[in-house]
Amino acid sequence: MNIHEYQAKQWLARFGVPVPQGRVAATAEEARAAAREIGFPCVVKAQIHAGGRGKAGGVKVVHNDDEAAAFAEDILGKPLVTHQTGPEGRIVRRVWVEEASRIARELYCSIVLDAAAGGPAIIACREGGMEIEEVARETPDAIIIEVVDPLVGVQPFQIRRVAAGLGLSGKELSAFGVLVRSLYDAFLKSDCMQLEINPLAQLDDGRLLVLDAKMNFDGNALFRQTDVAELRDITEEDPKEVRASDLGISYVALDGNIGCMVNGAGLAMGTMDIIQQYGGMPANFLDVGGGASKEMVGQAFRLLLSDDKVRGVLVNIFGGIMRCDVIAAGVIDAAREIGVSVPLVVRLQGTNVEQGRELLSKSDLSIIPADTIADAAQKIVEAVRAQEGDA
Ligand code: GDP
Ligand code: MN
Repeated sequence: MNIHEYQAKQWLARFGVPVPQGRVAATAEEARAAAREIGFPCVVKAQIHAGGRGKAGGVKVVHNDDEAAAFAEDILGKPLVTHQTGPEGRIVRRVWVEEASRIARELYCSIVLDAAAGGPAIIACREGGMEIEEVARETPDAIIIEVVDPLVGVQPFQIRRVAAGLGLSGKELSAFGVLVRSLYDAFLKSDCMQLEINPLAQLDDGRLLVLDAKMNFDGNALFRQTDVAELRDITEEDPKEVRASDLGISYVALDGNIGCMVNGAGLAMGTMDIIQQYGGMPANFLDVGGGASKEMVGQAFRLLLSDDKVRGVLVNIFGGIMRCDVIAAGVIDAAREIGVSVPLVVRLQGTNVEQGRELLSKSDLSIIPADTIADAAQKIVEAVRAQEGDA
């Protein structure tokens, strides 16, 4: 789960992380009042769940309240398109107004859960700011990575190593040490997956200040992070994913055109891989779960088809706890009720598979049956292709 920059800054301040003073505003007049309170110059920043705002015109230093209100008026209620949002952009619903800082250098510092290393990794770079992606691509050696052993926490030698890489010494080094420890504390205690500070500004008086913060939390830990869960902004999320999470279905929307309904995360991953192997692109990851009911299958089906990119559906279910005849009945009911106008390939395997297949073949729906996963993937890719050919 992601949160906005202003929320991340307020959250991090609780852990003693140095952030600028600021106020959030939802209208131009609120932005004017916030700017007056903070004083000039100040910075007005679009709040969306995406980076790249600076380059896209979503961040502006303003010198008086008219300028603050005019800029807020300009960007509020409209989509902001950045290199991270896709062409449709994200609607700006709030701006964050904060005191301007006299920046000497912009550094990069983040903590991410590094699955391969088995722990949180501190990632830092001397050249932070808006060009970080280019730096990472062109001079990967400039990126410092320090993996923390979660049992012992951040060690002093690791802080010295990262600080040296950033060109910080003396008083700056100790300030950086305190900062990294509070970031790490926030990361650990809030069940973060990613905590990115870019830029971490070094001011002209030497102080370090967090100018931008991006936080991502482990969705599976939200049950014990109720304060974090309250920061959720569902207007920033894919409505299909929001509905899925309400229904208890694991669903992730993707860019392809073949909708997949699978039970079990592993089988779902395998199904997506094999669709790609046959030249198709999955429109989603969808795991209905091991013991899903007939109703759940129906809901999942509806969810899949609400994505207008979907040109074909592949149902790949292994009947274990959930019997194949129950799935088949669920698929038939849902397909009949919703009226599926795209090719539908169903592959069932496991308990009561014969009864399940019989139900499918007896139904008046044009369901394409398949035996193996490979067979199913091949059939749906071909059916989608044939249909595109006709169009
Ligand atoms: P992003 O482009 O979405 O990552 O947004 P950022 O919050 O990182 O802002 C982009 C750039 O705006 C930063 O790299 C800074 O150069 C500048 N910026 C952000 N906050 C301030 C500020 O308080 N003062 C000044 N002078 N510049 C800022
Ligand atoms: Mn940034």
